[in-house]
Amino acid sequence: MTPDAIVADASIDAGVDGEVEEGATNPVSLDVATVREKTSLASRIITSVALVAPVFGVLSAARLLWGVDLHPLDLYLFAIFYVITGLGITVGYHRLFTHKAFRASQPVRAAFAILGAMTLQGPVTQWVTDHRKHHARSDAAGDPHSPNLAGPGFFHHVYGFFHAHVGWLISTKGMERGMLYGRDLFDDPMIRFIDRAYFAWVAISIGLPYLIAFAITGSNARGIEALVWAGLVRIFCFQHATFAVNSVCHTWGRRPYVTGDKSTNNVLVALLTFGEGWHNNHHAFPRSARHGLTAAQVDLSYVVITLLTKVGLASEIRLPTDQQIARVAKTGA
Ligand SMILES: [Zn+2]
Ligand SMILES: [Zn+2]
Repeated sequence: MTPDAIVADASIDAGVDGEVEEGATNPVSLDVATVREKTSLASRIITSVALVAPVFGVLSAARLLWGVDLHPLDLYLFAIFYVITGLGITVGYHRLFTHKAFRASQPVRAAFAILGAMTLQGPVTQWVTDHRKHHARSDAAGDPHSPNLAGPGFFHHVYGFFHAHVGWLISTKGMERGMLYGRDLFDDPMIRFIDRAYFAWVAISIGLPYLIAFAITGSNARGIEALVWAGLVRIFCFQHATFAVNSVCHTWGRRPYVTGDKSTNNVLVALLTFGEGWHNNHHAFPRSARHGLTAAQVDLSYVVITLLTKVGLASEIRLPTDQQIARVAKTGA
């Protein structure tokens, strides 16, 4: 198979091109395109720091380290940063950049790429190419983070769940061929610039809560308190909510659609990730801007996308038709 053929297949299965249609079956003919045996040392070190540093924030906030206090301002900043940077992942990294579920101007794309980076989940090209590969190889050999490939038995299930949640970040992350799975992003100079400035967005994500709290209260201690709660603890919480999409939402929950993988809908994960927990829906319709397909399936990310459309900042939203939904719905589901 030529590289171009791999691109075509990977793009289609990740829901990048064409109209919305069902089609999350595993493309067994697709090559497991990797560039290296395992995740690079640099990536492992950076990822380890990005995973461990927020834990110290949690310990501090729990008064286990330095007894950081908690004021209402910390909670307001926590909520604001959680939602805004979280939407950078759900609306930006995932629905806009990975699946092209809608179109947006370059300034809007830049904003979402920066907000996504502020969650410390890696640069957008890295995230997108890993995720496109997940769709192309869902729960089959080559899936970077399936919890279902470790083998039979309880301990293998536990190991698989751990791998899908965080283990893959230091074992299989970044093995995909970025120039093949994410060529559209690598060809975009603005995205490459935002990628290269990744550590600046990380610094802003952690430092901005400090500066805001310091500006409001004039207290260095209150600034550090906000840095811990709205910086580190907030990053920790959204990281693990997102990781749960990979682990929980390929393990527990309902599967109303036939998708050829083990993706599930999980309401708790959906609430914590602004609609990303309707993951079986998403695997059924990867190109859809809307993941919560019923009125009861709350999907804040889709609400945001529709609002962006109303004010002219987004266009060409892709949605499945009723006939397409009916075609892959399990009978009686
Ligand atoms: Zn999935
Ligand atoms: Zn996806």
